[in-house]
Amino acid sequence: MTKLFGTNGIRGVVNEDMNCELALGIGKAWGTYLKKTIPKPKVAIGTDARLSNHMLKCAISSGLLATGCDVIDVGLVPTPTLQYAVREKGYDSGVIITASHNPPHFNGIKGVASDGTEFSKDIEEEIEKIYFQKSFFKVKWDEVGKFTTWNGSTDLYINGILNSVDVDIIKNKNFHVVLDCGNGAGSLVTPILLKKLGCRITELYCEPDGTFPGHNSEPLPENLVELIKKVPEVNADLGAAQDGDADRAIFVDEKGNYIWGDKSLAIGAKYATKEKGGVTVTPVTTSSMFDDVVKENKGSIIHTAVGSPIVARVMIENDSVFGGEENGGLIFPELQYCRDSAMSIAKILEIMAKEEKKLSELVEEIPKYEVFKLKMPCPNDKKEIVMRTLAEETKKDKNVKNVDETDGVKLYLEDGWVLLRPSGTEPIFRVYSESKEKSKAEELALNYKKIAEDIIKSK
Ligand code: MG
Repeated sequence: MTKLFGTNGIRGVVNEDMNCELALGIGKAWGTYLKKTIPKPKVAIGTDARLSNHMLKCAISSGLLATGCDVIDVGLVPTPTLQYAVREKGYDSGVIITASHNPPHFNGIKGVASDGTEFSKDIEEEIEKIYFQKSFFKVKWDEVGKFTTWNGSTDLYINGILNSVDVDIIKNKNFHVVLDCGNGAGSLVTPILLKKLGCRITELYCEPDGTFPGHNSEPLPENLVELIKKVPEVNADLGAAQDGDADRAIFVDEKGNYIWGDKSLAIGAKYATKEKGGVTVTPVTTSSMFDDVVKENKGSIIHTAVGSPIVARVMIENDSVFGGEENGGLIFPELQYCRDSAMSIAKILEIMAKEEKKLSELVEEIPKYEVFKLKMPCPNDKKEIVMRTLAEETKKDKNVKNVDETDGVKLYLEDGWVLLRPSGTEPIFRVYSESKEKSKAEELALNYKKIAEDIIKSK
């Protein structure tokens, strides 16, 4: 279990737990890790728009240079832009300084592997081990790394997207898009991309500003009030919002309806498998609407543990046609194996153009499900035995059609599913359930919560 790296790299409050001493140490550990297999590693480094970015970038870079790595500063860029640059330019690794959608006083550090995917848990654990043991590699005075800057990553990335979508079909539609970059890193890329796609743009908060003056950076309905109002007001075809580091996108239809990420993910899956089926990948927590549309197209679904690096890795291993998460993190392998908001926006426009449908019509075609979520207390030391017992007992239960133990225990029943997932940080299980009827979803969650509580008492 890692102590520094969480689900999304290292995050913390600036100059408290996220400080320059930590960043310097992480830089040295990162460089030491790379030097074990690569004689002269090249590491790209980029940031989102936060005020503390330079402090952390300089400190990590110093650590990397001290171990003999060359550092290429690509500047203020979306996370997927850096990921694309790492893969396309053949860099050995990438560092992105971002706390994604967290409040402005936070910042974070996230790692990118040479293939452009987010660091796996294994790599993070290895870097952490070096950090805590302080077993840093150190080069002689004449082998210290070189620091250079390169400002070509946004052009490279925008061209990559333009080569991965049908530009002409989108251009022909002259779409009007209301774009809300939330003062994040997407501001530097998405307006340019949309202009190249022949779109008219109404911009909201498309100036990078690390104080996030427009609204909180998480693209939730309560933060997108203006976008939701603006789209019907200006008769736009689409509203699109990006989170702080622009790896996730959320959409608003032409009527001003906020479209939750489970729907846009299902739309992506439906059109990726439309002609030839293929393998799709998504975590066990994803709605059955995803499975339904893929199965209808004779495609297959692999359910993984929660976490976008895992989804991306499984997609590569299975030559997958599409994947992603319900939080607006869609992964299009024709461009790259990571969550990518600008590519998602371009793809949604492409689907609207090809299908000659409005976004509300595309959403209407997606099967409807009701979700229910709750939390239940469970001592950390009982989580394992609860999951094992629950899986064993329910395998004998006739109502249970299938038991999936990929991440927690997911039980497929006649009229829905229920998933009990242990929290990695708190003494709780998260219980998710889904069914066509709201009352049924609630009943499933409460039933299996009761069964789990009985197991806790008996053990
Ligand atoms: Mg993000």
